[in-house]
Amino acid sequence: MKKYDVIIVGAGPGGIYSAYELLKTAPDLKVAVFERGRRLEARKCPIDGEKIKSCVSCKTCAIMSGFGGAGAFSDGKYNLTNDFGGTLYEYIGKKKAMELMQYVDGINMSHGGEGTRLYSTANTRYKTVCMQNDLHLLDASVRHLGTDINYIVLGNLLAELEGRVDFYFDTPVEKVDIADGGYLVRTKKDEYSCRDCVISVGRSGSSWMEDVCADLDIPTKSNRVDIGVRVELPAVVFQDITDELYEGKIVYRTEKFEDLVRTFCMNPKGAVVAENTNGIVTVNGHSYENPELQTENTNFALLVAKHFSEPFKDSNGYGESIARLSNMLGGGVIVQRFGDLIRGRRSTKKRIDESFVVPTLAATPGDLSLVLPKRILDGIIEMIYALDKIAPGTANADTLLYGVEVKFYNMEVSIDENLETRHKGLYVIGDGSGVTHSLSHASASGVYVARRIAQSRKAN
Ligand SMILES: Cc1cc2nc3c(=O)[nH]c(=O)nc-3n(C[C@H](O)[C@H](O)[C@H](O)COP(=O)(O)OP(=O)(O)OC[C@H]3O[C@@H](n4cnc5c(N)ncnc54)[C@H](O)[C@@H]3O)c2cc1C
Repeated sequence: MKKYDVIIVGAGPGGIYSAYELLKTAPDLKVAVFERGRRLEARKCPIDGEKIKSCVSCKTCAIMSGFGGAGAFSDGKYNLTNDFGGTLYEYIGKKKAMELMQYVDGINMSHGGEGTRLYSTANTRYKTVCMQNDLHLLDASVRHLGTDINYIVLGNLLAELEGRVDFYFDTPVEKVDIADGGYLVRTKKDEYSCRDCVISVGRSGSSWMEDVCADLDIPTKSNRVDIGVRVELPAVVFQDITDELYEGKIVYRTEKFEDLVRTFCMNPKGAVVAENTNGIVTVNGHSYENPELQTENTNFALLVAKHFSEPFKDSNGYGESIARLSNMLGGGVIVQRFGDLIRGRRSTKKRIDESFVVPTLAATPGDLSLVLPKRILDGIIEMIYALDKIAPGTANADTLLYGVEVKFYNMEVSIDENLETRHKGLYVIGDGSGVTHSLSHASASGVYVARRIAQSRKAN
């Protein structure tokens, strides 16, 4: 059996930055990273828009898994804020969380990201404009790496880590067991032992994480899911906002139900994409820094946060059922013109073809009112009209709505201020912990845990 000091499960931002920081702070430790997906350059989604137009449910989704994790083909929007993207600050404090996010931003800059722009909401007039229209702009600085630069940064990090850390790609970890003052990490073929184990399996590893918590008797809780649509419209409609802020995180409280609806993951001149999480196809978006790869459209999600109270516990199951409904009706993602939705009719291929907004994702024209619960759909429609006041054109009939976009929240794993579970030396970080929901918070949690491990090794 091979022995390691530290085993990291998952090579997303959380896992990568744990490994990176362990090399810096405790270079003598023997570290291994196990990853279900492939190496960075071998990750390839089969959808080509021609032969393969929609998700074919690969065994391991190349968009969600592999070196770089779910973030590898993301827009690389690196948000430096405690206002959204997770609640890491509740565990490690706001100051520390910001410090670590800035530290990771610095590493990204020295690994290929230099020259990318840092946008900020400080002093923007949009704060006032939003307030005057019953909308609220959240505070943040956002570094936009873009899918292309993000990929370069990841390539450089892999090159630096390889040879000094053992990577096991295409190797899902099946089980983690407690053994002899450490842990046994079991894959299909082999077993590996370690003293410290860092689990960073992201959203795609959520059901596996639940099994681990059940096996090792680690308490969890779950009560939230965000459901909505991805909006796509001509880039000029949001250009004033995106030129200044890149991404405006705007929140609106609906009149009817007093629900919070928010914009999420804004991609100026970007593309809408399908993503497959455990066999369920939902929608997402990204954009490139390179002008040659940019499109004429901007996309962003409008999400309604749904919190459940006792006795209902399966918030993700609720979100999955809605996504399944859209998959059942549309065979994947459904697209509808805003004008068709308001008129109470489905979109057809003809209506989409005649639209002035050309979709960037080949989705099935349909009717989102047959998929989304009334309360959620009403909230989205209200928000579109509210946004139309600060970005006229948002409520145009040709604005496209793709559904459904679901933001699943991993159940929250019970961890302490060291991000350690009730079992000494077993850490759960990143999106898989339910504590972070972003590149910046997940990466920061990785650095934090690496430093804790290095510190505890020095103390012993
Ligand atoms: C299309 C898209 C765009 C996004 N855009 C942005 C953005 O612009 N800005 C932002 O802040 N966030 C964005 N996100 C979210 C962001 O990618 C995640 O918050 C971030 O990647 C979380 O990092 P992580 O390391 O916790 O998990 P992940 O990145 O999900 O990595 C977890 C890794 O663990 C592996 N794994 C799972 N189970 C096992 C197992 N049993 N054994 C071995 N390996 C396993 C998975 O294959 C995966 O590679 C986007 C996500 C998507 C899908």
